[in-house]
Amino acid sequence: MPATVSHRDTCRLCGSKNVERVVSLQPIPLSENYSTDRQVAANAPRYPVDVYMCGDCGHVQHLDVIDPKDLWDSYTYYSGDAKGMPEHFLQVSDKIIKKSNPPAGSLIVDIGSNDGSLLKPFKQAGFRVLGIDPATEVAKKANESGIPTIPSLMSLDLAKQIHGEHGPAQVICAFNVFAHADNLGEMVDCVRLMLAPDGLFFFEAQYLLDIIDGVLIATIFHEHMSHHSVKPLIDFLDRHGLELISVERARIQHGSLIGAVQLKGGKRPVEDSVKQLLALEADRKLDKLQTLRDFDAKVKQLRDRTIGLVETWKKQGATIAGYGAARSGPTLIAQLGLAGAIEFIVDDHPQKVGKYETGDGIPVVPTAELCKRMPDYTVILAWVHSQKIIETNQEYLDKGGHLVVLCPQTRIVGKNGDVKF
Ligand SMILES: [Zn+2]
Repeated sequence: MPATVSHRDTCRLCGSKNVERVVSLQPIPLSENYSTDRQVAANAPRYPVDVYMCGDCGHVQHLDVIDPKDLWDSYTYYSGDAKGMPEHFLQVSDKIIKKSNPPAGSLIVDIGSNDGSLLKPFKQAGFRVLGIDPATEVAKKANESGIPTIPSLMSLDLAKQIHGEHGPAQVICAFNVFAHADNLGEMVDCVRLMLAPDGLFFFEAQYLLDIIDGVLIATIFHEHMSHHSVKPLIDFLDRHGLELISVERARIQHGSLIGAVQLKGGKRPVEDSVKQLLALEADRKLDKLQTLRDFDAKVKQLRDRTIGLVETWKKQGATIAGYGAARSGPTLIAQLGLAGAIEFIVDDHPQKVGKYETGDGIPVVPTAELCKRMPDYTVILAWVHSQKIIETNQEYLDKGGHLVVLCPQTRIVGKNGDVKF
């Protein structure tokens, strides 16, 4: 059944109608619906993912909004399964405890808690933990693993209920979802309702500057409704009774932003990191429409280059595969013009093997097939793990295969390293 999609005409952060489309992209299917029926997968409906910018506050965002029920009900991404994520969460929880110094037994809440990976180290450190996540299956798994999780979208009613039943939260996190919420105003209002007077709210979201610098088009899909930067967030949080006190750039997902937020008028001073990133954003003209239009031009160049490359390979009679049935797969395939070129995708995820990739109906087969079928070129669709994939597939390279990295620059790796083209 097609998803319900609506187009909003106001900025998600400041409500201004002065929003302009700055990056035009190909519509893509919802990225996690792998199907056992090739026809169903190949004919999956596509929805727009164009990027808009607010001319008033500078927030960069999607305005075509998929109904959260369609987006999350059958969601099957598990944070704990993502390479590097459990280690990242362990480090993050350690930093959060040091920074917020919550008394023993304090309540730690995670909005969009997924399988409970972030809350696990807090629980082990002796805190009370509570997760909230609308993906039913994922929340069930979290509960089974001992992380109490409410299978629901965040709402003001739920925030009041949690506050009433569990008391104020000393720490609230929104690590997986800060870029995911359409009604971000309601989310931070929920945070304000639940947060203890001296508590801290931490969020993580991919950083707009990293998206631009790395041409990270693979991260532009329907779940990521906002591409955050510091300047628009400060005013937004202020309007909702909150104050950004520190920001840190993290390397996870090729560049994200971790912010710490207190109730407005809280006891903590605003740290230099906020001023420093504001200065960097001003220097890079991150709030200017032209900066995003330049990014749009870079994406188009990358697409033209990839299409040219695929045409050359096809003329040579070469076979092409994809590596990784990642969320970013259908995005890269659509934005870089790879549709029709990839014969199969290798991946070992039990919920994807034997199924078909949404959008093009490409079959997903186990990674062991790579060395058996020996495609001439294998395009890495799980772009975040490109280096790791190159390192662990030496046998394929030694036998004459090539691994292809598409972003931010095209790289073709053969048995003796990068191949010039
Ligand atoms: Zn705005």
